Amino acid sequence: MVTVVSEGKTERNYLERVHDEAGQDSRFVLHFDPQTQPGKGLKPSEVVNRAVDVQYRITRSAQEGDEEEGDGGPDQYVWAVFDRDQHNDIDEAMRTASKNGIEVAFSTPSFDLWLLLHFAPGLPANVSSENNQLVRKLNAVRHFERYGRSSGGKGSDSKPKTLNDAQLTALWAKRDNAVRLARQLVDRCSRGLCRASSTKAEQGHHWSCDPLKRDTQTDFYRLLELLTDDGRGRAGRERRGDG
Ligand SMILES: [Zn+2]
Repeated sequence: MVTVVSEGKTERNYLERVHDEAGQDSRFVLHFDPQTQPGKGLKPSEVVNRAVDVQYRITRSAQEGDEEEGDGGPDQYVWAVFDRDQHNDIDEAMRTASKNGIEVAFSTPSFDLWLLLHFAPGLPANVSSENNQLVRKLNAVRHFERYGRSSGGKGSDSKPKTLNDAQLTALWAKRDNAVRLARQLVDRCSRGLCRASSTKAEQGHHWSCDPLKRDTQTDFYRLLELLTDDGRGRAGRERRGDG
């Protein structure tokens, strides 16, 4: 069973489509914060704290023999999804995740990089923190002409970026390209110690690779591999309530 905790409207839209396509038999559960208002999204450290809460609940339920909450076994994965954006608590979020065994799908400069990799003909140049570059490139892709326009290109704006059905369909069709390129980006990571593992969903960046120094990188491919691989992440056997 995989549980994903995420904030951000774009990530939500994307994960919901993955769930529609590959979430049969409750192989994974999505946790979104129903109280979060647009423009007041959770900070990365808050996403991770929520993931820790979820993990605690799963573990406690397993100890109490509550079948509904999953078995707490080795195939339980709790993931936190966030991006670099303009956040100043990435270090704290990463530390808390590491201490509590929470897996992280971290994108820098933003989740838009992951979206762009679906359609990119090859590895993109480093874009540093210039996220508008990514949005402009996405705007050249069919169905994405107006992506990010009403939000001014900012995901944390009062008008968050969203993905419509045509965009999600185009993304899903190209997911293999995104995974392939994201893996190549890890191999290109500047520290020289980072290698995308040949095993699906495994950690690619070396432990010494500072997330704040990464440029044009996304771990989201690992989560997608986990969620769509028939061989893993399907320990869950019963429907679980969201919350
Ligand atoms: Zn690295």
